[in-house]
Amino acid sequence: MYQRAILHLDMDAFFASVEIKKNAALAGIPLIVGGTGGRGVVTSCSYEARRFGIHAGMPMAIALRRCPDARTVRGDYEDYEKHSGMVTEIIAEEGPVFEKASIDEFYVDMTGMDRHVGCVKWSGELRQRIIRETGLPISAGLAINKLVSKVRAGESKPNGSGWVQTGAERAFLSPLPVRKIPSIGSVTARKMSLMGIRRAGTLSQVPVSLLEREFGSMGREYHRRANGIDHRPVVPYTERKSFSSESTFQTDTIDMEFLLRKLRHQTARLAYDLRQAGRLTARVTVKIRYTDFNTYTRARRIDYTAHDQQLVPVAETLFRELFTRRQCIRLIGVRFDLLASGHTQLDLFNDTEENSRLLLALDKVRGRFGKTAVAVG
Ligand SMILES: [Mg+2]
Repeated sequence: MYQRAILHLDMDAFFASVEIKKNAALAGIPLIVGGTGGRGVVTSCSYEARRFGIHAGMPMAIALRRCPDARTVRGDYEDYEKHSGMVTEIIAEEGPVFEKASIDEFYVDMTGMDRHVGCVKWSGELRQRIIRETGLPISAGLAINKLVSKVRAGESKPNGSGWVQTGAERAFLSPLPVRKIPSIGSVTARKMSLMGIRRAGTLSQVPVSLLEREFGSMGREYHRRANGIDHRPVVPYTERKSFSSESTFQTDTIDMEFLLRKLRHQTARLAYDLRQAGRLTARVTVKIRYTDFNTYTRARRIDYTAHDQQLVPVAETLFRELFTRRQCIRLIGVRFDLLASGHTQLDLFNDTEENSRLLLALDKVRGRFGKTAVAVG
């Protein structure tokens, strides 16, 4: 059978590492990057902070209760994006097909590059070059697929690398807690624990039918993953510059309520697309076309986000500022550009955990039933 060679690269405590690079006084101490307001969330933290049980996604208030002496930094997303771009450029320069999975994670497909030893040497050199040129720690995992390479990189942290030889996937995963398998979260892990399944090795031997009964369609997927099976391809990285949508009305209208409802719906749908693509936007543009075909646009810079709650009000304000003529409208357009990679649940500096959870839950429903299932009213 045809064998793949996939390298996973993952920056260690990325935002925190960039802050340490900029200010050496932050090295070696518990450092938290995130929203420092009353309801802020941790977006990244140093390994020293992790020893106190602090992790990304945790409310800042709880993190500071666990470690009152921790230093906090609000963070500078544009700077993180710049460093992410440096890493992306190095990988692109070095060669083969790669996927940018998030602001600090990459998959490189090295299939057919050489024999395995060549891949190991090449990935080691690539990793060293990234560390040398960016001054940031990064961990790497090499294996036959994305799943195993990602787990391998995770097990190599901080600032390490490892290789799972072909055929050794199951043996490598087997002793690990089920939580280490991507897509198995704390809730699922707890449920598995109650069933007596604590390690990937145990999970790999549970009959699929039983897992399907307990976990629905994901049951089969968990079983495959515990066995180290993953056929997902490395999706080549392309720089998408913007997300936009336009809708032309069947009948031109001046009905403000209708227009605002349309605009909110359109903006929320576009924000969903943005989140699905793992991107954030720093500029919203609204366009209107009057019945006489005169067209106007208005744009506003904002902090990086992919959240409805931030994007919808901006679009609304822009629309109200634009819609000044007492004339019917035939088209509304919304556009997001100045994009950055990132996932909204962890990258929003002043976001609250509840909001992020709600949005992720809504996205799951949308994914299952189609985009129109959930509308923002
Ligand atoms: Mg990382």
